[in-house]
Amino acid sequence: TALPSDLTRAPIASFASHSSAGPHAAGGSFYVFWQAAYHLFGQWHPRGGSQSLTTALIHRLEGWGGEVRTGAVVERIDARGGTARAVVLEGGQRVEASAVVTAVDVQTALLDLLDPPLGGRDGVELKAAHRGNAVQMLVHLATDKLPPYPNARPGDWNGLQSHVDTLDELRRGFLSAEGRRLPYPVSTYCFTPSVYDDSLAPAGKHTVYLACPCAPYDVEGGWESQQEVFADAMIAQVEAHAPGFTASITDRHIRTPTFMARELRWPGAHPMQLDISLDQLAFMRPTRRLSGHTVPGVAGLYTCGASTAPVGGIAGSSGKAAALELLKAQP
Ligand SMILES: Cc1cc2nc3c(=O)[nH]c(=O)nc-3n(C[C@H](O)[C@H](O)[C@H](O)COP(=O)(O)OP(=O)(O)OC[C@H]3O[C@@H](n4cnc5c(N)ncnc54)[C@H](O)[C@@H]3O)c2cc1C
Repeated sequence: TALPSDLTRAPIASFASHSSAGPHAAGGSFYVFWQAAYHLFGQWHPRGGSQSLTTALIHRLEGWGGEVRTGAVVERIDARGGTARAVVLEGGQRVEASAVVTAVDVQTALLDLLDPPLGGRDGVELKAAHRGNAVQMLVHLATDKLPPYPNARPGDWNGLQSHVDTLDELRRGFLSAEGRRLPYPVSTYCFTPSVYDDSLAPAGKHTVYLACPCAPYDVEGGWESQQEVFADAMIAQVEAHAPGFTASITDRHIRTPTFMARELRWPGAHPMQLDISLDQLAFMRPTRRLSGHTVPGVAGLYTCGASTAPVGGIAGSSGKAAALELLKAQP
C-alpha cells in the first residue's frame, strides 16, 4: 500500500516473487529486500553460465583429493543401529562412509532414503512441512537481438526485466497455480545474460531466459498438451513491451515443471524444495528440531540443500552450516 502505482508495485512484486513466495503469502513482501540487496551489493555471474561454478567447485574438491561421481543414484542411506554407515546406490553398490551429508530434498532424504526412516515426532513434523504447487516454468530462447524496449538505455538489460503489469495479476497468478490452473495473463520476467557474458552466444546473438514464477507443477490437463501455447503466451507478454521481440527468436527450449522434476529427480519442481513461508524459514527450516543440520537419533548424518536452514537458493549457506557441524564432530 505504500506504493500507490502498479508501475512500481508490479515490477517490485515480480522481483520478490523470484524467491518463489508470491504476494498472496504471509511474509511474501519480505523478499523484496532480498532483491534490493542484489541492487545494493551486486550479483555475480560465472562466465560461461552456472555450470562454470559447479566445474570450479569440482576442481577444488579434486584438488583436495576428493572424487565426484555423477549418475550415481542413492537408493538408501544405511543408518541401522543409529549411525549412518553407508549409502547404497541403484544397482546395489554399497559405499561405506564415516559420515553422510544429504544434499537432496530433506523429506526424500530422511523419510524415503534413510533406513530406518526418521520416525517419532521428528518424522511426523518433517512429513508435515509444506511445498506449494506454484513453481517456475522456463523458456530458454536464442535471439538475434536483445528485447527491443522502446527508449531503452544502456544497462537496462543487466538485471531482471519484469513483464508483470499489475500486482493483482501476479497475486491471481499464484492463486491459479495453487488451484492447478494456468495463470492468464502469464506473469513473466526475463534475463538476458549474454549482454554481460559474450561467451554464451555468437557475436551479435543473444540468450534470453523467460520465467513465469507462478506456473502450476500439477496442472489440470497436464503440461504436455499446453506447454507450447503457454510458452507463446510468455513470449507475447514480452512482445507487448518490446515490439519485434517475437521476430528476433531463432530457437527455443521449453522447460516445464514436470520436465524439470523428471530430469533432476526434483520433487514438485519447487525452486526452494519446500515453501519459504515464515513458518519454514531460518531456525524453523525444515522444522524447528531439524534446523541444526544434524538428525536426532542418527549419528554421522548431516543435511543441507534448499529445504534446510536457513533458506533455499544458491548461496551455499546450508552446505556451509552442515560442514561446520560435521567438523565439530570430528575427533
Ligand atoms: C527457475 C529458477 C530460478 C532460480 N533463481 C534463483 C536465483 O536467482 N537465486 C537463488 O539463490 N536461487 C534461485 N533458484 C533456487 C535455486 O536454484 C535452488 O534453491 C538451488 O539450486 C537448490 O540447490 P540444491 O543443491 O539444494 O538442490 P538441487 O540443485 O536440486 O540439487 C540436488 C541434486 O541431487 C540430485 N539427486 C536427487 N535425488 C538423488 C538421489 N537419490 N541420488 C543422487 N542424487 C540425487 C538431483 O538430481 C540434483 O542434481 C532458482 C530456481 C529455479 C528453478
